[in-house]
This record gives sequence, C-alpha cells and structure tokens, in this order.
Amino acid sequence: MAETYRLSCHCGAVALEVQPKQALADAKRCDCSYCRRRGAPMLAVPLDGLTVLKGEDALTLYQFGTHTARHWFCSVCGIYTHHRRRSNPNEYGINLGALEGVNPSDFPEFGWNDGVNHPSDR
Ligand SMILES: [Zn+2]
Repeated sequence: MAETYRLSCHCGAVALEVQPKQALADAKRCDCSYCRRRGAPMLAVPLDGLTVLKGEDALTLYQFGTHTARHWFCSVCGIYTHHRRRSNPNEYGINLGALEGVNPSDFPEFGWNDGVNHPSDR
C-alpha cells in the first residue's frame, strides 16, 4: 500500500492528496528545457493516486512542444504542483518539495531524467 501525502502550493490555494509509487529518495529531476528551469525533484504517481482537494480553479495549465505533457501550477503563487507525464501519460509527476512535512534536503542526491533526449522522441 502506497503512502499518502498532502501536497500544497505556497499560498495554500491548491492542495492535493497523492500516493507516490516511488520512495521519496527516488525522486528525480529532469533536464528538459522546461524542467531544468523549474528545478523541482519529482516523484511518479499513478493517475488514480492523485486527488485535488482544493484549488482546482486556481490551477493553471502550461503546455509546449508536443502538448502531451500537462504542467499545472498555482496561478496565485506560481508553485508547480504536478504534471501529467509525457513519457508515461498513465502517470503524474509531482513536486517533492511541495509535500507537506517533507524536506528535500533530507535527500541530497537526486538523480536526473534525460529530458534532452526524451524517451518519447526516440
Ligand atoms: Zn498558491
């Protein structure tokens, strides 16, 4: 049974409940043109493992390139909360740094996904 976490943006307008399929220490960053700017370590969550508790109307969607991935962030404070993954549309990626009660500095050695050579482009 996956652990359940509450995820929130900075201003509190948006809150999600998530059940990551990975351990927190297995979060990864991505070096694609978008994620390298965002810089967040991310965890994979199955589609049925994410519920928007509040702030659905505060979420803004950003898409680019193939428009497959759907990146959401809070329209008030700008914090990235989650995205529908392009490499696996059956999963979301979530912002580890936005999990309540979790300090990313407890996991100093995050790996990287190769977003420059994206699996969907090979
Ligand atoms: Zn916010």
